[in-house]
Amino acid sequence: MKVIAIGRNYIDHAKELNNPVPASPVIFMKPDTAVLKDNKDFYYPEFSKDIHYECELVVRICNEGKHVTSKFAHKYYDAIGLGIDFTARDIQAEQKAKGLPWELAKAFDHSAVISNMIAKEEFESINNINFSLQKNGEIVQKGNTKNMIFDVESLIVYISKYITLRKGDLIYTGTPAGVGPVQIGDKLQGFIEDREMFTTHIK
Ligand code: MG
Repeated sequence: MKVIAIGRNYIDHAKELNNPVPASPVIFMKPDTAVLKDNKDFYYPEFSKDIHYECELVVRICNEGKHVTSKFAHKYYDAIGLGIDFTARDIQAEQKAKGLPWELAKAFDHSAVISNMIAKEEFESINNINFSLQKNGEIVQKGNTKNMIFDVESLIVYISKYITLRKGDLIYTGTPAGVGPVQIGDKLQGFIEDREMFTTHIK
């Protein structure tokens, strides 16, 4: 499986990092070794001093798809979860300044927290789901999928023009405003609506 992640998919987040609002989706990837599931602890890596959380709605792909059209995009995902796109913001800033790819800042081991998945049928619409992140019991991020610049089905159409989607792939759909650093000892808890989806302790 692979993780495809979307950058700058909420206007308020693009602005908080002084990035332009993109005209087409910003795509990057994480390898399967990035996935961190089952509420396992996240160990702060020695190569960064500025690891940030980015809480994101995640969709799971259920069919192989290449050149998916918008009419059929809904057939290509079956479940929804919540995750964190951990980002080494210090490394990313260096890479951005040099015009280099983001992999070392984004694709490192355990940088993709993922919750258990919920069947998409449990939601009235993929385009109106509230989610939030708490750090040490305080809400730090709140989003609703209706505020995405590119909605889930447009992302499936766009990505599959370039990259074949396969069953089990995950799409991290971008983070709303409120990203920030974590420290050893922090506890992160993600929620979809009122449902607790994951807990991650920073060790
Ligand atoms: Mg992100």
